[in-house]
This record gives sequence, structure tokens and C-alpha cells, in this order.
Amino acid sequence: MPYQNRRKPNDKSRFRRTYHRRKICRFCADSSLVIDYKEIKVLRYFTTERGKITPRRISGNCAKHQRILTLALKRARNMALMPFTTSVVR
Ligand SMILES: [Zn+2]
Repeated sequence: MPYQNRRKPNDKSRFRRTYHRRKICRFCADSSLVIDYKEIKVLRYFTTERGKITPRRISGNCAKHQRILTLALKRARNMALMPFTTSVVR
């Protein structure tokens, strides 16, 4: 019976690997959340503790909002509202 062996053994492991929960863009879900260079509270959420911008695959933002966020964050950095980096004491 050739049709009994539908699945290859390595198919299952690949399926397991690609599984992840779909994140929704916070700005799409909540329209009251505004991306602005003055909104440091919002911007800080999307940065690491080192001051780097969280990548889209982690934050779950959509392309459109990530673009706006990046622009706002860079603007905030230039206005000295956000850090470029934080000094790490070693
Ligand atoms: Zn969005």
C-alpha cells in the first residue's frame, strides 16, 4: 500500500519548527495608540534595554507601523528624548 505512507519522517519536524503564535500589530489593534516622537512611553516599549529598536519579527508590528515607529524613534533620539545606546558598566 503506497498511500499509507503519506508523511515523510522529516516533514513532522519541519512542521514543528515553523510553528509560532501570530502576533498582532499593537498599533493596528489599538487606534488610540499614537506613534509620535514625543510619546517616549510608547517608543520605549519597542526598544531593548540597550536602546536598540526591537525587530518586527519580535515586536509583531506590521510593516507600515514599524516604518513609522522607526522614524519616530530616530527623531526622538535626535531630540535627545531617547538614547542611541546606554552605557554598560562592565
Ligand atoms: Zn500596524
